Parts: sequence; structure tokens; C-alpha cells
Amino acid sequence: MTDKTYVFGHTNPDTDSIASAISMANLQTQTGRYAESYRLGNINKETKYALDTFNMQEPELLSKIEDHTNVIMVDNNEFSQSVNGIENAHIQMVVDHHRLNLHTSEPVYCIAEPVGCASTILYKLYRQEDVTITPRIAGMMLSAIISDTLMFRSPTCTDQDRITAEKLSKIAGINLYDYGYKLLEAGTDISDCTAEEIINIDSKDFMHHELKITISQINSSNVDEVFKRKPEIEKAIEAKIKKENIDLFVFVVTDILEANSRVIVLGNRTDIFERAFHTELIANTTLLKGVVSRKKQILPAILQGIDQKIEL
Ligand code: MG
Ligand code: MG
Ligand code: MG
Repeated sequence: MTDKTYVFGHTNPDTDSIASAISMANLQTQTGRYAESYRLGNINKETKYALDTFNMQEPELLSKIEDHTNVIMVDNNEFSQSVNGIENAHIQMVVDHHRLNLHTSEPVYCIAEPVGCASTILYKLYRQEDVTITPRIAGMMLSAIISDTLMFRSPTCTDQDRITAEKLSKIAGINLYDYGYKLLEAGTDISDCTAEEIINIDSKDFMHHELKITISQINSSNVDEVFKRKPEIEKAIEAKIKKENIDLFVFVVTDILEANSRVIVLGNRTDIFERAFHTELIANTTLLKGVVSRKKQILPAILQGIDQKIEL
């Protein structure tokens, strides 16, 4: 065990998980502590676009940690979406904007706010600690806010996210909207991905009353194009359901232009999804109008759907 603090987000990392890990590790370093950022999986194309634009290196891959390792969790507080060995780590701090599902044996410094992006909270921590945000760090944090809020259109987006993004774009020296659409568009390219890769780009597992629910999400500017690959995507989902004993798998294709989502729902508990959204799946699919957020719209509806059934 070293004095080093490992900083990381969630598995299948998105832009916020990478950007907030980088900016948190930098904040620790700038305030005299020894910390490094890590990634818990492959970098997606959107994040790569951000890293390339701001000339930043991708963090090193971390697949497991030793007992008692010092860690800071950013953009996640659920062990099911974290690194192997997290149960026995020493969690120094959590900075997150998701539901809390954290159980520790020791007291923990936890900053959780219902804002659109963990990087929005990080921005405030930089201000509190009076640490300068460099243009490159600002660019990464800005990318995270654009990504997580789908350019401010997600219901998770708050005024704080908008104001912070404006400030960060000035520090980074870029045009927020020009850059933002290029960033989001970069993340939609799945042309060279296998169906298995597509369903794992941004996949999260949730346990609720013994049920395993997986919600996987991709962004698209051409949803019909994605649905041309529906048969092979369904095959990949079925294989994952079998291998990982998943009860309900929801594959969400979010239209970044229309701010809607079309889903493919599979598993032996699709009834939960139908009840949650008062909808009937036709050929395993339906359109969810105005739905773009997993954490605020899709997951809560599904969890309530399960709870209602249990009460009956
Ligand atoms: Mg995230
Ligand atoms: Mg986030
Ligand atoms: Mg996300």
C-alpha cells in the first residue's frame, strides 16, 4: 500500500468519468497530495475526441485494487459499477451526482449533488481550494458537462451546469456550441463496432430486490441506422443476458437531435419495463418520447415498477 490515492469513475467510462477523475487527481496534486487518475475500461470515441482536442493523455487502465488502497470515487458511488476490490478499499472521498448506494465501514467524505455532471461539482471544489483551472482541464470538464447533459437538454441539467459550462468554455477558449455538437457527434460513430461492443459502450448494472437490471445507452444522430442492426444487437443482448444472469436488459438509443430514446428491451422480466412506462413492447421495442436520462428517467421508473409489483 502506498500513500497514493487512486481516482476513478465507473466501469465502461464515459466522458465525465474520465474528465472528473483527471480533474480530481489534478486538484489533489495541486493541493499537495499524491493522487493519480485511472480509467475502469476502454475510452469511448466521444471521450477520445475530447482528450485529443485538449491534448490530454488518457488515464491508465485499472482492473483491480489491493486491500486498503486509498481511493476517491468520482461520477459513481456504486460498487457494482466500480473496480474489482473496491469493497476492501479505503474510500477517502466520493464526488458524485447519481443516487447514493454506498455502504462503508468507516466515515466517508461524500459530496453528492443532484446536478447534471460530476465535473460541475469539481469546478466548485477548484474554486473552494483556490486552484487555477488550466485551459486543458477546463476543456475536459466542459466536455463532461456537454456529454452528461446532452448539451443542456437532459432533465438532469441545472442552471449550475449551464453557468459552469459557459465559464469553462471561456477558460478553454472554445465556442461552446460548435465544439459541443462535434463532441456529441464524435460519440455516435458505431460503424466499426461489433454488436457486442455497441451494447457495452455505456452499460450499467443495477441490483434491486435480487433482480439484475442492465441499462445500456448509446447516443445517435441517426437512430434508424442503428436499428438496421437490430437483429445482431438483439443476439448480442441475449448472449449477455444468458452469460450474466440478467433479468431485464434495456438498450437505449438516444436521439441527440430530437432528445427522444428508442429502446430494445429483453430478458424474462420485460413486464417490469412495460409497467414502468405504461407501454407495450412491439418486437421488443418502443419509443420513449422526451426520455434521455438513465439516472433520472429510466432507472427510477424501473425501480418503482419493481417496488409496485412487490407491494401488490
Ligand atoms: Mg458517468
Ligand atoms: Mg456523470
Ligand atoms: Mg452518462
